[in-house]
Amino acid sequence: MRRTFDYLPHASQPCVIGARVRVPFGRRMMVGIVVATSDDSSWPTEQLKAVADVIDDEPLWPSMLLDVLKWASRYYQHPLGEVLHHALNKKLRQGDAPTSADIEVWQLTDLGRQQTVETTKRAPKQWLLLCLLQDGAQERASLTSQGANGTTITAVHKKNWIELAPLSALQDTNVAASQQPPATVEQSVAITALNSNLGRFSVSLLEGITGSGKTRVYLDVMAEVVAKGEQVLVLVPEIGLTPQTLSRFRQHLGVRIGLIHSGLNDSERLAAWQAARQGEISVLLGTRSALFTPMKNLGLIVVDEEHDGSYKQQDGFRYHARDLAVMRARAEQVPLLLGSATPSFESLANAKAGRYHHLRLTQRAAGGKLPKIAAIDMRQQVMAGPLSAPILNAMSEHLKANNQVLVFLNRRGFSPVLLCHECGWFAECQRCNRPYTWHKQFRRLHCHHCQTERPVPSQCDSCGSTQLVPVGQGTEQLEEALQAHFVDYPVVRIDRDSTRRKDAFDQLVNDVQRGHYRILVGTQMLAKGHDFADVTLVVIADVDGALFSSDFRAAERMCQLLTQVSGRAGRAGQDAQVLLQTHYPEHPWVQQLQTQPYDEVADGLLSERKQAQLPPYAALAMIRAEANDENKVVQFLNEVEAELRKVPVDKTVTIMAPSPCAMVRKAGRYRWQLAVLAAQKNAIQQLLSQALPAIEGLRSAQVVRWHVDVDPQET
Ligand code: ADP
Ligand code: ZN
Ligand code: ZN
Repeated sequence: MRRTFDYLPHASQPCVIGARVRVPFGRRMMVGIVVATSDDSSWPTEQLKAVADVIDDEPLWPSMLLDVLKWASRYYQHPLGEVLHHALNKKLRQGDAPTSADIEVWQLTDLGRQQTVETTKRAPKQWLLLCLLQDGAQERASLTSQGANGTTITAVHKKNWIELAPLSALQDTNVAASQQPPATVEQSVAITALNSNLGRFSVSLLEGITGSGKTRVYLDVMAEVVAKGEQVLVLVPEIGLTPQTLSRFRQHLGVRIGLIHSGLNDSERLAAWQAARQGEISVLLGTRSALFTPMKNLGLIVVDEEHDGSYKQQDGFRYHARDLAVMRARAEQVPLLLGSATPSFESLANAKAGRYHHLRLTQRAAGGKLPKIAAIDMRQQVMAGPLSAPILNAMSEHLKANNQVLVFLNRRGFSPVLLCHECGWFAECQRCNRPYTWHKQFRRLHCHHCQTERPVPSQCDSCGSTQLVPVGQGTEQLEEALQAHFVDYPVVRIDRDSTRRKDAFDQLVNDVQRGHYRILVGTQMLAKGHDFADVTLVVIADVDGALFSSDFRAAERMCQLLTQVSGRAGRAGQDAQVLLQTHYPEHPWVQQLQTQPYDEVADGLLSERKQAQLPPYAALAMIRAEANDENKVVQFLNEVEAELRKVPVDKTVTIMAPSPCAMVRKAGRYRWQLAVLAAQKNAIQQLLSQALPAIEGLRSAQVVRWHVDVDPQET
């Protein structure tokens, strides 16, 4: 509900703004948050109910952070109640007391200290756990985030190698800051610039090619902030929080690091939240929603891989954590550091306009150049499988030289279509009107849009023929074909299917790093964060799909993904190569990627955006609706359009007619959208906030599911 509710204060306990209270709501008792106090109410006072119980004597958030949340509610046109709800973890929503007392801390026993790699050699996980504790006590969340799991902790505890320790043991942790190689000249320049900006609001964009040592820059600046007794909030993308990241942070900083991510349980999340709020931890490392954690003495916010799509929440409260980080940094008067090898066009435009400091790292820190990208024209090739002969030959050479090869294909499963050879029928999801993907591994057909599954048919539904053939390739097929072709070189596939089991991903990455596999086949899971030192050839099996997308961000995303994947090659300074297969070698994006670095390609694409008056040079919002009955969706959006047109707006505002979404039918529902564009963000804000009450009151709004998406990532 887009409104707040009035209550009388509690008879004896004070209700402060930002605190939780229990209130009667209908027939239930609910947890509410005090957002304002007032001397009167638009409701008759005798009808108001009183607060039943006050849960917190202090506000949950400092007022500056609460103001950011209120601002976000207005900016994203999302009810304040839901925004605040989202900003709290589950325990706090339920009314639990904020406490960090539940933290489970582990340390080595004397017996544990005597163990060696030999005595634990049949259990590498147990050895890993002992190694992690060598520097001192750690909390459970930190251990599990670095690759130890609950079973291992229990097993090692049973052997009396580790024991529970008091919370104070963490304070004693004093990891000797490990010897680091000296910073490169570019790193030093960036570090000096960033250090000179501490203590006040500013935004810096650190654009550094993959392997240029961005993390090293973050760590040096963070150490400076921590030394002043201030705290750092670090956001990483959903799968960017690798055990390596955390270990590196621990080793370099030697301070207590709190964690907030989806792999933790509710108590662990609450404990980290409270410890950050009380100033007990110096660094909070987390994914998107960690942005809302109150920090007692915030000194710096870092957003790593700031271009990453996972910073945008795609349902409910559709905020962008990077954009809100700017608001928070401004409110709390601290610097914000955005880092990426492939910055978002939004951040690049801000940097170009002089609103952000632009810092660059153009050289790889450990030496070596970025690999050259070359396109292989598939039109002239006889294809004996998913990969063409020139690609297979290049792979042979790299493998013979004892290197690893990474083959990237952003499509899971064996084939995206299963087709009848006799009549052309294909297996299609009835709820999405899209072909099913055939997963040979699971012997299932799977719809990647609505997640439904069915067994693989043995016969054509239409003519009864048994000649069903796969069309197109997915990672499973690529893996099979490569293993058949390169019998002497072990192949591993890394995608969402091969890593379903908990820990499977870390395990596979580990095996790859130890050189166990020579050929790596994978989806974009492979593009992020991990160092594979022996990879010298990256093959991109199919870029053509991206060339036909209707989304205006398609080019930006393709360049980011290809640059990130290419960055996996030559990490240890070897000469490396990137080959991409395409039927359209003359396509401008394909041409540019071969001859220009990311920032130059981005420059060109940004001027196209400017000409077309698209974000980041315009503000965009989308109203989307869906229902089983397409007519109802269209009727609703037509009425929405009429309501929007009633609002007086300046002439830079364009209200588009409703149009079907790129995937018009998904999971049985028809989906349409209506876009609103304007030169300025606040013009959109005014238009939406004036029209939304009327839109909510529409009868047609009751029979469809609909939402507003401000700054949508999908168009
Ligand atoms: P990025 O995050 O920019 O991709 P990393 O911070 O992961 O880069 O650094 C890439 C590699 O370079 C790492 O192996 C890191 O240890 C190494 N490295 C970073 N800074 C230096 C330096 N100043 N001298 C030598 N090696 C460095
Ligand atoms: Zn489906
Ligand atoms: Zn058939």
